[in-house]
Amino acid sequence: KPIIKARHVDKTYPNGCHALKQVSLDVIPGEVVVIIGPSGSGKSTFLRTLNQLETISSGSIVMDGVNLTDKKTNINHVRKDVGMVFQQFNLFPHKTALGNVMMSPIKVLKERQDEAEQHARELLTRVGLADRMDNYPSRLSGGQQQRVAIARALAMRPKIMLFDEPTSALDPEMVGEVLDVMKGLANDGMTMVVVTHEMNFAKEVADRVVFMEEGELILEETPERFFSSR
Ligand code: ADP
Ligand code: ADP
Repeated sequence: KPIIKARHVDKTYPNGCHALKQVSLDVIPGEVVVIIGPSGSGKSTFLRTLNQLETISSGSIVMDGVNLTDKKTNINHVRKDVGMVFQQFNLFPHKTALGNVMMSPIKVLKERQDEAEQHARELLTRVGLADRMDNYPSRLSGGQQQRVAIARALAMRPKIMLFDEPTSALDPEMVGEVLDVMKGLANDGMTMVVVTHEMNFAKEVADRVVFMEEGELILEETPERFFSSR
C-alpha cells in the first residue's frame, strides 16, 4: 500500500511557468525512488509539493494517508512526517551540530531537553560525526554539514525522507560520505525520494528510477532496465 500517492499533479507558478504536467507517482513504504532529468524539468518542484513547500494547481497528493489537498489537513502535521534535505545545508550558524539537531524536536515535538539530546547524539553518531557534535557549522566541511542536515531531518522521526540534489554543492571528495549515509538509511528501510545526478547511487540503491522532462514524468523503470537501455 503506497505511503506516497501523487495523482495527476499539475503545478503552474504565478508567473505562468507550467512546471508539472499530470505527474503521477506511487511510492510504497521502504522504497527508494530516484528522480533524474535535465535542469528545469520540474524535479525540485515535484519534491517540494510532496512536503507542501509548494501548493499544487490540480490533482492530488496523499502522504501516509493524509490528503494534502484537503483544506482541513494540518500542514505542520504532514511536514513532521516528511524530512527534507536540500542542496544547501541551511544549518543555523550560531548553533553547534548538536544544537542544530536538537532544536526542532524541542520546539516542534516538545521533546524534553535530555531526551532530544540523547537522540541527537545517536543520530550524529550514526552519520559518522560522533567527534564533531560540539563544532559550529563554520568549522565543518561541506560533507560534514550535509550529514548534520540529514541528522537534523531524522531527529523529527520522519516516515519519509526527500533529498533534493543533496551532493550537488559538495566538493567531489565529500560526495561519497553523504551518499554512504543515504545508503545506510535506505538499508534501514526508510522511504526515500531522491533527486540526484549521482548515477552510481541510482544504480546501487534505487528500487525505481523515474525520468522527468519538461514537467512530465515520462519514464519509470527498475535501475537494471533503466541503465541497460542506455
Ligand atoms: P529542476 O529541479 O528539474 O531543475 P525545477 O522544479 O527547479 O526543475 O523547475 C521547473 C521549472 O519551474 C523551471 O522552468 C523553473 O524555471 C520553474 N520554476 C521553479 N521555481 C519557480 C518559481 N518559484 N517561480 C516560477 N518558476 C519556477
Ligand atoms: P534547482 O536546483 O532546484 O533547480 P534553481 O536554481 O532552478 O534550483 O532555482 C533556485 C530557486 O529559484 C528555487 O527556490 C526556485 O523555486 C527559484 N526559481 C527557479 N526558477 C524560477 C523562476 N523562473 N522564477 C522565480 N523563481 C525561480
